[in-house]
Amino acid sequence: ALPRLDRPGRTLVTTLGVVGTGTMGSGIAQVAAQHGLEVVLVDAQPDLAQRARDRIGASLQQAVQRGRLSGDEAEAALERLTPADGMDALAMASWVIEAVPEEISLKRAVFAQLEQVCPPGTILASNTSSLSVSEIAAASKDPRRVVGLHFFNPVPAMALVEVVRGSATSESTLEAALELARNLGKTPVAVADCPGFIVNRVVRPFYNEALRMLNENVAQPADIDRAMRGVGFRMGPFELMDLIGNDVNLAVTTSIYEQFNGEPRFRPSPLQRRLVQSGALGRKTGKGWYDYSTDAAVGNQAVAAPSSERPDLSSRLAVIHHGTIGVELAESLGVDPVDTPFGSASHRGVPIEEAEIILDLTTGPLAAKCALLEAINRKSSRGAPILTLALTASTTELASSCGQPERVCGFGYLPPLTDTQIIEIAPGLQTGEAARAAAESLAAALGKEPVLVQDGAGLAAARILTLIINEAAWALMERVAEPADIDLAVRLGANYPRGPLEWADRLGLDLVLRIIEAMQRELGDDRYRPAPLLRKLALTRRTFR
Ligand code: NAD
Repeated sequence: ALPRLDRPGRTLVTTLGVVGTGTMGSGIAQVAAQHGLEVVLVDAQPDLAQRARDRIGASLQQAVQRGRLSGDEAEAALERLTPADGMDALAMASWVIEAVPEEISLKRAVFAQLEQVCPPGTILASNTSSLSVSEIAAASKDPRRVVGLHFFNPVPAMALVEVVRGSATSESTLEAALELARNLGKTPVAVADCPGFIVNRVVRPFYNEALRMLNENVAQPADIDRAMRGVGFRMGPFELMDLIGNDVNLAVTTSIYEQFNGEPRFRPSPLQRRLVQSGALGRKTGKGWYDYSTDAAVGNQAVAAPSSERPDLSSRLAVIHHGTIGVELAESLGVDPVDTPFGSASHRGVPIEEAEIILDLTTGPLAAKCALLEAINRKSSRGAPILTLALTASTTELASSCGQPERVCGFGYLPPLTDTQIIEIAPGLQTGEAARAAAESLAAALGKEPVLVQDGAGLAAARILTLIINEAAWALMERVAEPADIDLAVRLGANYPRGPLEWADRLGLDLVLRIIEAMQRELGDDRYRPAPLLRKLALTRRTFR
């Protein structure tokens, strides 16, 4: 059934003009025609608008073949698309969406022309993904009717539309834009006019931090990709950059970096720039972070299914913990559920003196964790490996205050255990072979795939994820959008398994803050400073949502 476009009190949207009928313009036109709007197509040359109509016809036929549309519906949608000779044909349009190339002068020229042609009631929208809507509207006689409608590619498949409120956009224009997006079957979120809006901004660390880690030799692309898939992302950062095109990805990062006046959180990677300069843009050139020339399936590294044989370590383990992380892990390993005190932490399982492997699952401050490791070292005199959850400091740093640092190996994962398919293993500089082997047997006992990474605060997955959360917190603090809308936009616009703020609440803001502070301490770069809002909420034991 067609959505109701004529609800009482709403603008009657019957005709939509689309200016610029390339990738995005065609997609928007197709969706609008499928939802019952008359669509007028305008491009720089009339034959381009006609060609766009032909392309949309082919796309509609494909939808019919896939059973998503009936033949009659496809035909009716195609009938609603009219290629025009020029802007004059837009005089009757109640809406115009501009999707010309991303150049401010070009966009402003188009809007100036639209103002001449369209009556005062026509709402004028831009599909810009990175320019300021306020700047596009600045030369308009009536900027109140100008709004951003940021659709995602491919438009027919992507549910999200960021509705961008320029500094002069009126409330009624914003409401009408939200309504139009809903009537096109999309999920709109209202966003302030700021660089990258929500999605392109909040997802930046997914790429940037992965690149930074490669630069620091934390892990190779295939391992970082596996680590991110292992916590629920559909693709890892490197395979995704290759799919998007490293040139396109770098351009978005650079644009956001410049618009934020060189904010270090968005600093582009020299590694990626060099890759682009060398012409290795990704899948489209046959080579990017991966080489696709001989095997197109390269890069699609599914996380291995857990082995059904999980060694039982329960009779050999002592677990030192506080809080839910330790309880969950101990339960998964079948360790005795009775807690006895061990300093300010709790102890489960066999007595420390008799344990063959000792797990430290505390996430407290660095000094407390170092003191705890030394206390374990003294109490367990048999040299048993000590595996420490090393998200909030490097293994090397944690082990360095321990009398026998070769006993200590770091590991990491993002709680809860049920959400992760991998365990990261991070030997420190002093870690001995036995400790490293014990970490591997821990991963096997948990039924998770081990991923070897260099030790360092946050390891791999938590380093990327906490910085995505931090960026969402900055955006929330700057009132870019409501918390639920930030999460919704990132889930729909980037296909993430959870919204970053919801994810943060699930992990606990205290842990998120500790990991970010540890990175700040260890790496010393301003890009790791925690968003003040995150710190305040963590200190007062509150949540984002
Ligand atoms: P595109 O190059 O595929 O299409 C642009 C079209 O505009 C072309 O058909 C071109 O002939 C036409 N054009 C150029 N000058 C014109 C003029 N003066 N008047 C009318 N038509 C003109 O570009 P695209 O990828 O569809 O991007 C369009 C806009 O959408 C940009 O602002 C871009 O940032 C934004 N966007 C793109 C994507 C994406 O993934 N491609 C996603 C979201 C938003």
